[in-house]
Amino acid sequence: MSNLTFAIIKPDAVKNGDTGKIYDRIISAEFKVLSAKLINMTLAQAQGFYGVHAGKPFYDELTEFMSSSQSMVLALEKDNAVSAWRETIGATNPKEADAGTIRHDFATSIGENAVHGSDSDENARKEIGFFFSEAELISNQ
Ligand code: UDP
Ligand code: MG
Repeated sequence: MSNLTFAIIKPDAVKNGDTGKIYDRIISAEFKVLSAKLINMTLAQAQGFYGVHAGKPFYDELTEFMSSSQSMVLALEKDNAVSAWRETIGATNPKEADAGTIRHDFATSIGENAVHGSDSDENARKEIGFFFSEAELISNQ
């Protein structure tokens, strides 16, 4: 059990003007935002971040999409943060996401699905470290 997870408000959601609404869902679900920033990730960063999916049919499209325009990266804190955030965002495919989840309400397709969430405590730590420095996290604790 751990209290941290990593989230991204993906380029489709930022472009659609949904950043504020999704941030509000994060607060309403009682996550503490430890750190957040708007970035425009490079293709190399997207490829590194999604390295586990390298070679899969959607990898090129995914990494191009993730580096296509601005996104917001967030380090979130809550008890059982990984599973709590996955529940809040819903299934990868918005067609399969439960009513009331972020992907159900904001995603347009399985590729452009509005948000990212870590899938394990170990990956949450790695993903937070990929985008945030120690100083950015410690200063906000
Ligand atoms: N993705 C896709 N097609 C697929 C599966 C995944 O475009 O068939 C994209 C989608 O943006 C997803 C990301 O790749 O969020 C990472 O996939 P993963 O299976 O890890 O889903 P997640 O953990 O984001 O729910
Ligand atoms: Mg995943």
